[in-house]
Amino acid sequence: MGLSGRLLIGSLLLAALLTLVDGLIAHAPWLPVLTLLLLGVALTATVGLSRKLATIRQAHDLAMQGAHDGFWSWNPISKRLQVGERLLDILGYDHNFLPDTHAWLDLVHPDDRAGYNHAVAEHLKGATPFFYFEYRVRARSGDWCWIASRGLAQRDRNGRAYLMAGSVSDITERKAREEQIRYLAYHDQLTALPNRVLLAERLSQALREAEREQRRAAIMFIDLDRFKDINDTLGHEIGDSVLRSVAARLRTVLDTDCTLARQGGDEFIVILPHVMGVEDALHTGKRYLDVISAPFQEGEHEFLIGATIGISIFPDDGRDPGTLLRNADTAMYEAKASGGSLIRAYSQQMNERIQGRVTMEKRLRHALERNELELYYQPQVDIASGRLIGAEALLRWSPDGQPVPPDRFIPVAEETGLIVPIGEWVIETALAEAARWRNEFVHAPRLAINLSPRQFSGGQLARCVLDNLARRELPTDAIELEITESILLQPEGDSIDVLRELHARGLRLALDDFGTGYSSLSYLQRLPIEVLKIDRSFIRALGEDNANAIVRAIVAMAHNLGLTVVAEGVETDSQLALLRMLGCDVYQGYLCSRPLPAQAFRERLLRKSA
Ligand code: C2E
Ligand code: MG
Ligand code: MG
Repeated sequence: MGLSGRLLIGSLLLAALLTLVDGLIAHAPWLPVLTLLLLGVALTATVGLSRKLATIRQAHDLAMQGAHDGFWSWNPISKRLQVGERLLDILGYDHNFLPDTHAWLDLVHPDDRAGYNHAVAEHLKGATPFFYFEYRVRARSGDWCWIASRGLAQRDRNGRAYLMAGSVSDITERKAREEQIRYLAYHDQLTALPNRVLLAERLSQALREAEREQRRAAIMFIDLDRFKDINDTLGHEIGDSVLRSVAARLRTVLDTDCTLARQGGDEFIVILPHVMGVEDALHTGKRYLDVISAPFQEGEHEFLIGATIGISIFPDDGRDPGTLLRNADTAMYEAKASGGSLIRAYSQQMNERIQGRVTMEKRLRHALERNELELYYQPQVDIASGRLIGAEALLRWSPDGQPVPPDRFIPVAEETGLIVPIGEWVIETALAEAARWRNEFVHAPRLAINLSPRQFSGGQLARCVLDNLARRELPTDAIELEITESILLQPEGDSIDVLRELHARGLRLALDDFGTGYSSLSYLQRLPIEVLKIDRSFIRALGEDNANAIVRAIVAMAHNLGLTVVAEGVETDSQLALLRMLGCDVYQGYLCSRPLPAQAFRERLLRKSA
């Protein structure tokens, strides 16, 4: 009952009382005056109180409006619901059509309904000191509106709640901001793919499920081949664009339950939460390789990009995310070492090999001081005349008398930078040998020395070579420097300047292993070279129509540019005959001789030709 109602009843009762005491008045004429006086006092007090209450209500409404909050009250027994205008306003409705709990629940987002009911029930039970829940409600516009609702239950003497009331605030903007922050924290900005943080979460979740359901899951480590080349030669913008395209291509072949993440750089990771086994994962990996290797068109540039994939399987190759990621990475690394554009599944032996590399690095650090390095020499023969015209110095390393193939230790030396001091030793030793040939023989062949791209950074290379030649009074044509196309991809970019300087000083430069790298004509024109060495993989294939045609084309192109062509790895007479027919100038290979130690080379090849 309202305050005015109570006031009315009070006054009526008072009037009845007055009638009753009417008789008394005759006996006490002062009584009406006293009654009127009392009535006046009571009235004044009540009006004051009701004014005060009206002010409090106004203040409450004002606070509600000011706080932009909406008000509600709810009867947990009758389920009747009352909502204030502001709440309707938040949701965009103009009249209250929410008579009860059911109507309200219909508006609550299905994903939030259970949580909402739980929070209400907990408070009604008395398990929480107040009710608080953030959830989504369907607004009139059809959008989901995020609200935070808080309230308190009124209880009877037995603790049973008979009323609950509270307020609601619109937190849609805050939630949108939080969502955005969450998105930024969990996604890669360039490709919009999940980043490594989200990957870690999804991976743990996938492994938990696989464990529970006792099935296999796979992790795939995808690394683009020669992406650095794209960045270095075509620029970072195109590099970025390629990364976005790769992400988009992978998305098109990704199964819906898989997660594709960008690990950083040109590395992507896929979680496959359901696989039958290795074969299944390899099969899927093949699909990924296929989409990546379709040609890319960026502006006027068209090019191909390969990728290398390493796979690890849960639980076979590890049970925790760290081990599985590491093993997938190891498998990828091994696939790269075998030439890239491959898929490899992890095996225990891979880890042993990696361990071997670490040990090798340690031992290689001592190779120089322990005198474990040696140069071997392999003859180069002029095809037309059959004369020995050159030799290539090839590095040998035999720690504890056990030879390690150059293909294994040179990459380690390059990765660790040890190739710089080792390369200086090679130059020093090779030039000492070349000087000796000049002293002892009439026709000393020109000596070819291999250089690694790493030796070009630091600015010491040209000095080292030229000073050494001068010190030994050797003419510049006593030697030839072999480089590979990877020289163009040095980040410093001044390698070409070093080459130009060496060239200007009269040194002959040879491009080694032609056909295995970029092998683009425009590169050939940029490099100040005199010699082109055709990689031995082409020579091995000679006899097949295709290979013959390729070698013929390379020779023609090289001759056009005024280059001398050397064939590497010639092992048989028929290969030599074909090379002669195809117009190749010089050959090198086991057919003439394997690489020999210095003394054996001098005795067997130089004395003969002297
Ligand atoms: P490369 O410069 O292309 O050297 C030619 C390789 O082919 C040598 O391998 C040689 O032994 C091998 N070879 C020559 N004739 C034949 C043949 O008829 N059949 C076959 N199957 N192989 C033949 P090696 O000595 O194992 O050297 C491998 C690579 O290591 C070299 O390839 C070169 O890239 C690198 N390397 C060798 N010495 C040095 C060096 O002093 N410095 C640098 N930076 N790299 C070096
Ligand atoms: Mg070479
Ligand atoms: Mg070669």
